[in-house]
Amino acid sequence: MSDMLASVRKQLAEGLVNNTLNTCARWAEHRIYTPPPYAGKLSFDKFPWQREILNARDPFVSVQKAAQMGFSVAGLIKALYFVDQKKVDVLYVLPTQNLAGDFAKARLDQMVALSPALRNMFIGSNNVGLKTTGDHAHIFIRGSVAESGLVSVPVGVAIVDEYDRCNPKAMSLVLERLSAHENKHFFGLSTPTLPNYGINKQYQLGTQERYRFPCPCCGKKIELLWPDEKKGIKGCIEICGEHATDQDCYRSFFKCPECGGKLPHDNKSEWLAKAYWEATSPAHGHRSFHLNQMYGPAISPGELVVAYFKGQSDDAAQVEFVNQKLGEPHLLEGARVTDPVIDACLRDHRIEDPRPDVGNRQIVMGVDVGTFLDVVVAEYLYLDGDPGFEPHLRSTCKVLWSGRLPGSDFSVLDRLMAEWQVQYTAIDFQPETILAKAFCRRFYGHASVVQYRKGTTGHEIKEAHDDERVSILTVDRTAFLDMALGRLHKQRTLLPQNISGVFREHVQNLVRTYELDDMGKPKAVYVSLGADHQAHALNLTEVAHMMAYSRQTGRNITAGESVRDF
Ligand SMILES: [Zn+2]
Repeated sequence: MSDMLASVRKQLAEGLVNNTLNTCARWAEHRIYTPPPYAGKLSFDKFPWQREILNARDPFVSVQKAAQMGFSVAGLIKALYFVDQKKVDVLYVLPTQNLAGDFAKARLDQMVALSPALRNMFIGSNNVGLKTTGDHAHIFIRGSVAESGLVSVPVGVAIVDEYDRCNPKAMSLVLERLSAHENKHFFGLSTPTLPNYGINKQYQLGTQERYRFPCPCCGKKIELLWPDEKKGIKGCIEICGEHATDQDCYRSFFKCPECGGKLPHDNKSEWLAKAYWEATSPAHGHRSFHLNQMYGPAISPGELVVAYFKGQSDDAAQVEFVNQKLGEPHLLEGARVTDPVIDACLRDHRIEDPRPDVGNRQIVMGVDVGTFLDVVVAEYLYLDGDPGFEPHLRSTCKVLWSGRLPGSDFSVLDRLMAEWQVQYTAIDFQPETILAKAFCRRFYGHASVVQYRKGTTGHEIKEAHDDERVSILTVDRTAFLDMALGRLHKQRTLLPQNISGVFREHVQNLVRTYELDDMGKPKAVYVSLGADHQAHALNLTEVAHMMAYSRQTGRNITAGESVRDF
């Protein structure tokens, strides 16, 4: 009897609790258990800023954040809350299929296993990409690269984790899937990369809320900020030490910018107890939040100062400090080609100048394939006429012609081969692989398809051949873009007087920055801010140049001649 009573009491109590779990944060506190480093029942003590972010129900919520601020579980909590309490379908997007798989297996399954109230939540087979609850609500877990995986049934909630590393094209598909739902909710979170890109662009569209609190010493409203003389920000840290290996760095401490009072790192949760979010921009239906690592429980002021000093002498470390620690976007000096840089490369030649009549010049072609064929024809000229052993260093790239051609007609490339006496062409492997390979067969020995891949480093070109002897090259995207775009900065690219506006625009749309790889090491990458096909065509001329250098023939080419050879 007493057992039965106890059981009834327990059920009643649970029912009462369930009725009061009307916000996401409250639900999470009662339902979620988290793994180490904060093992046990979920608590917001160390992450007080999360409560309001989790509860925000506006159609759009964006979080531009530093690393290690407890957000790896925030998206997960939201997803579980919506399927459990609201019975709404959720789309959860991560940058790649691999990350999506790891997320489902490691993080989601682990949290569900740790949390008694959720243990029996999902029914049916344990599908990695799809979780279904007893109430038939679903969590679809998808990588952003395979766009096809994003187009199917509509959902009420979409969560995009690591927004800046996701495929930018995927975002419009995600929004499309939401549009049919009347209570739609989009939750995007990321450490930022570049200004006006990805999460930073989203942040600027929203309320741009800052996390502020009264100083425990003087009571004035303050915000933890890093000093920035250029922006006139005094900052909240006393920086000790002179360089990254100086032990004095660890004497650094947080302080109030108004009264200078010390804000001890160790009892942060005490002086942040009265902190609140404050909007700095009027926006409706879109709340956006920003948070830096000075608020975090994990990193001490000394560690931040060490990271800051490292960034003073190293580009990768500087980007890491600003993106990962300050949660701010960052554009390195010289990371982007600008109009003045292009103007400095302009010379007297023009794109309609007479074509070469003999094939003894080092003329190559780069072809980017898409809706159009974007083509750049360039001649490589050597210092003292001698390529030496490092032709990329001893050469100047003289762009002779650039243009856009209708994408379906590859025969136009055959005509360009003859017109410009092209020694070598590098053509994009994707998306028209069959047409690109057919072109390479027609010009056997004078053309390769090119793919970008991880695993090739520096200027190394890996060559393989398919069954039909087509040369397939694999190159490192960043290394070749460094070469192609670096030449512009050094005026070792000579551009025709009347180079097109499209070329200018595309070349400026590729911006160099650093991203943390899966091992947490920074690696250089080019991020595309818009259409960039001409820049890739230019890049492919560098690949073609290296190939031409290794197989100089100096002979004339007539359209279709290689077909006869075959
Ligand atoms: Zn103060």
